Amino acid sequence: MARLLCIGEILVEMVAVDVDQPTTRPGRWAGPFPSGAPAILADQAALCGAEVSLVGTVGRDAFGTACLTRLRASGVVVDQVRVDPDGTTGVAFVSYRGDGSRSFVFHLADAASGRFRLADVESGLLGVDVVHLMGSSVFSAAAAEAVGEVFDAARARGIAVSFDPNLRPETLRREHVPTLLRILRGAQVVLASEGELQLLLGDAPDEDCARQLLAGSATTVVLKRGARGAGLYLDGREELSVPAVPVDEVDPTGAGDCFGGTFLALVLQGWAPADALRHANLAGALAVTQRGPMSGNRTLADLRAAEHLLPST
Ligand code: ADP
Repeated sequence: MARLLCIGEILVEMVAVDVDQPTTRPGRWAGPFPSGAPAILADQAALCGAEVSLVGTVGRDAFGTACLTRLRASGVVVDQVRVDPDGTTGVAFVSYRGDGSRSFVFHLADAASGRFRLADVESGLLGVDVVHLMGSSVFSAAAAEAVGEVFDAARARGIAVSFDPNLRPETLRREHVPTLLRILRGAQVVLASEGELQLLLGDAPDEDCARQLLAGSATTVVLKRGARGAGLYLDGREELSVPAVPVDEVDPTGAGDCFGGTFLALVLQGWAPADALRHANLAGALAVTQRGPMSGNRTLADLRAAEHLLPST
């Protein structure tokens, strides 16, 4: 079976229970939950039957152990996750505003979780079909260099790159943007949230940016549209939009990664992209019904059992 390699931050996340609860004051918090966007995506891809490995770093502490225990249980190969004795596993605090936006406080760049390097990844590239990279992993100069080097190494070996810009204003610096643009323009698969392509590529709406990417290196572009569903753009100008599966949203954290893990896992197992999109849209919807980044991740059997919820398109 095709193999997927995910790279980047592995951390624990504390989630504010109440909307508009400031991250700076005592309040009701849930967690710690195993998290980190690449970890959530890898977890979901494994639950959907993909052969997937994750490369990153954690501290030699209980948080690192909790993350690796969860990922192993889901079937993610974590043999190459480096346990760094000289630092702690990263932590993020996330709170939600009434307008649906989120605010994060990260302990990441200086944590063990921020120390992944190309050297951690190189042997893991053997036999891999797709490397998935995320903009959220570009949170420091060193991380930008590592992610850029992994991209170059993958392309030099002819490995397809999948990219989710996953922009985090809290950690993104102007000097990181060229790395993100280089990967965005060189990736074969792009999975972007609403507004991200427009922000990175200029003033054109996301849909026009998707078509622009397809005229370059991309063969597949997916636009994640939150409670409005998702869109699929393929080379050959095939396009498909699906409305969201109606659910009661409890916590949107991880929905995009759950969506991405499902989409990649199913495409790598030979599913038609349109069917993969419909099931990713379903997985994203089910993810937001649970509190905690990986709490709403589902197996392929769970998704099949929920197919009656799929909107008719
Ligand atoms: P990200 O978390 O990367 O910003 P989105 O918020 O767009 O991504 O969510 C990813 C996908 O999850 C959406 O494209 C959609 O399929 C699903 N989803 C997200 N929020 C909802 C919601 N409130 N109701 C139903 N589906 C949702």
